[in-house]
Amino acid sequence: MASCPQCDRPVREDAVSCPHCRYPLKAFGHPGIPLHRATDDGFLCSSCTYHHDDTCNFPQRPYAETCTLYHNVEEAIAPETLPPWKRPTPWYRRYRLLWPVLGLLVLSFVLATL
Ligand code: SF4
Ligand SMILES: [Zn+2]
Repeated sequence: MASCPQCDRPVREDAVSCPHCRYPLKAFGHPGIPLHRATDDGFLCSSCTYHHDDTCNFPQRPYAETCTLYHNVEEAIAPETLPPWKRPTPWYRRYRLLWPVLGLLVLSFVLATL
């Protein structure tokens, strides 16, 4: 079970805010949007993947104390959790210009065998 960063009492993992002190734990009041917070060590950006690869354009960079997109640079990123602009393109989209050519080839083959 997680604990509240403000009052240090136990809270549920999906709690939007602390039931004891009302401290916000998720962004925009949505249980699916994590709200990362800086610790006493400094700002979030200094250890964030998107700061290190220079792809973040949030206005609070490089002094973010809270962020919804933070990802620790030392942890691997699962492709499904990447932001949309960094997700790999699926193979069928990468070669989408070849699909009409392939369709014409198949159609030609079918017509030639009739
Ligand atoms: S995603 Fe958030 S924590 Fe990461 S660099 Fe941008 S503002 Fe900073
Ligand atoms: Zn609390």
